[in-house]
Amino acid sequence: MQIVTKKAIRYGIIILIFILLGLSYIAFHYFQGIPVLNYHQINNKDHNTLTLSSTEFEAQINYLYQEGYTGISPDQLADYLQSGKKLPPKPILITLDDGYKDNYQVAYPILQKYHFTATIFVITDFVNNYGKYLTWNQIREMSDNGVSFEAHTLSHISLSKASDEEIHNQLVKSKEAIEWRLGKKVDYLAYPGGEYDQRVIGLAKEAGYRAAFTVNFGRDRINSTLYTLNRIPIFGGQSHTFFRFWLRLNFTQTINALQNLKAYLLKEGNTSIAGLISIP
Ligand SMILES: [Zn+2]
Repeated sequence: MQIVTKKAIRYGIIILIFILLGLSYIAFHYFQGIPVLNYHQINNKDHNTLTLSSTEFEAQINYLYQEGYTGISPDQLADYLQSGKKLPPKPILITLDDGYKDNYQVAYPILQKYHFTATIFVITDFVNNYGKYLTWNQIREMSDNGVSFEAHTLSHISLSKASDEEIHNQLVKSKEAIEWRLGKKVDYLAYPGGEYDQRVIGLAKEAGYRAAFTVNFGRDRINSTLYTLNRIPIFGGQSHTFFRFWLRLNFTQTINALQNLKAYLLKEGNTSIAGLISIP
């Protein structure tokens, strides 16, 4: 009798360990969230925080390729966040803001080389009008080859400071411009400068957007609010660009916690202690 009980306990413990392992695996994946990378310019001429050189960008995309990441579209992300629709293994959404011409000249060939898709948020009034920005022909070519084009307003105004009417125009007309040029639906918005408030969110919903992206640092999870989606901004212009990218992608939650701690310390007036915390 005693042997049977001991055996039962042993099996019970083994089963319990498996259940706990399974639960922590599910919890890890659930809380881990989906990374949405955010880039701006990719070229070898500009040297600022919003620009990565072609070599730096390729090193990062190659890393994603080697690690088995799969590029997804904003539709796939929204379907997953809204209804838990299955995503491919190691999903990642690569986004580029503002619609710089170098996205076509430099980033696009690299993305194609490693079989990644991307999403470009364009400022529609700048398209075809300024040398630094994309043309509709370049946009059409990339769109035909799987790159998603979404809205970033007409002229990159600070939405939270604009009137309701101005916000409405900026959101509706930029959406319509891309839809008219490409014959595809535009359902996603990136707030210029990442600026938004409850009024802007309300107007984005009213304009027919399904979701909107901020520059708030973090990953996106099933319970994420669709109109304040987090991203992982990737910066250049300093040293250790790859290392900082690697840390931001793989330790998003740890960095998030550090950011919150730093913000709290600054709010409490502990500036010298806050100064010791450096965010990669
Ligand atoms: Zn922008």
